Amino acid sequence: MLVDSHCHLNFPELAGRVDEALALMRENRVTHALCISVTLQEFPQVRALAERYPQIYASVGVHPDYADVPVVTEQELVALADHPKVVAVGETGLDYYRIKGGSDWQRERFRTHIRAARRCAKPLVIHMRDAADDTLRIMQDERAGEVGGVMHCFTGSWKEAQAAIELGFLISFSGIVTFKNATALREVARQVPLERMLIETDSPFLAPVPYRGKTNEPGLVRYVAEEIARLRQVSLEEVAGVTSANFFRLFGVESHATQ
Ligand SMILES: [Zn+2]
Ligand SMILES: [Zn+2]
Repeated sequence: MLVDSHCHLNFPELAGRVDEALALMRENRVTHALCISVTLQEFPQVRALAERYPQIYASVGVHPDYADVPVVTEQELVALADHPKVVAVGETGLDYYRIKGGSDWQRERFRTHIRAARRCAKPLVIHMRDAADDTLRIMQDERAGEVGGVMHCFTGSWKEAQAAIELGFLISFSGIVTFKNATALREVARQVPLERMLIETDSPFLAPVPYRGKTNEPGLVRYVAEEIARLRQVSLEEVAGVTSANFFRLFGVESHATQ
């Protein structure tokens, strides 16, 4: 059994063909997927998917790349997280690649999410790009370790992974580990203990090899698991079993197959 810990099934590339995506999940034995919110405007679509399909779960949050959206408050996040299938707060974090050098609103939004997650005792889904020092500092500052969570689509160094693990976070690898030029990241994926690891697609983006450049979908998380198994010289079953158990534990999701 496999789990996709991070997808955007409501994005236009996938929203019109959710049933097909669920069929590929079944075919590849992907039993659960966490659909991630990026704005409060689209959150109702994410929640609706989670309400309609037993194998889909939801998060609530405002992504750090979205500059032109209303300021989100702790109260709003806490209220929207109060739903049996909303199992995480995010995605949130810092992205100094898209927003060059970051900005005060981005850091403030991140703090708001951590405070909300602590208030509702739900784990965080953290997006960190070219901003490791500030991300880890704010996580420490705001005591993100109280709720823990996941560093999604991790592309940092082993040192950064270790720092996040020390704060109680899991490290999630995406299809990037299958990309030809991702030698350094593959090295990190060899070092992170399997017990601290999740896998994800971040679909519709970042389709793994051999689908690179095509529309990604949750069923393709199998190729991420296969690459991790190859790198660590363990079986696909072991990677699948341990990363799925990590997911169920972190997000408090029932592990029985729901489809
Ligand atoms: Zn992200
Ligand atoms: Zn995402």
